[in-house]
Amino acid sequence: MDEYDLEESKNDKTLSTIAEHIRAILTLLGEDVQREGLLKTPERVSKALQFLTMGASQEKDVQELLSTAVFSQQYDEMVLIKDIEFYSLCEHHMLPFYGKVHVAYIPDRQVIGLSKIPRIVDIYARRLQIQEQMTVQIRDAIQEHLKSKGVGVLIEAHHMCMMVRGVQKHQTVTITSALSGKFLQDSRTREEFMHLLGRRSF
Ligand SMILES: [Zn+2]
Repeated sequence: MDEYDLEESKNDKTLSTIAEHIRAILTLLGEDVQREGLLKTPERVSKALQFLTMGASQEKDVQELLSTAVFSQQYDEMVLIKDIEFYSLCEHHMLPFYGKVHVAYIPDRQVIGLSKIPRIVDIYARRLQIQEQMTVQIRDAIQEHLKSKGVGVLIEAHHMCMMVRGVQKHQTVTITSALSGKFLQDSRTREEFMHLLGRRSF
């Protein structure tokens, strides 16, 4: 929980107002909000919710992130950043979905600092989200701001809203992909992407 405190949180008024609502929800659920274990819970939940949704207000940072970390380079083979961990909240149930994002692109005389891609993933994950939309948003952000010959994004995720209701087996993974440029036009590029990810097909 300490990480939440390090992040810039919205003003105290927002924090305490959300906490008040959480306290009301706990009461409606039949809890005694005065018992020791729950005393600080509303404030903790308020901070956690702000942390988990802070990406929505950081969208303006994406362009800056992508424009300040671009380097000229004569490299035109596929670049793959694999296994980027993410944690998001499904917008239908406000329950976590989490997993891994894989991002590939083919540079057009420009490459991006590798640490920037996970940062962009965080910005699109930390909000009320749906997996399909997140996949497309990450592809479009990279496609739009980085000159490249194509972008491929693949997300593998577990959804708590499915797991807790037993709709699906617990180990079920939901896979989404979004492609652009050469990834769409050239089947060899797609095959290389899948091969690098150790998959036979999407
Ligand atoms: Zn859901």
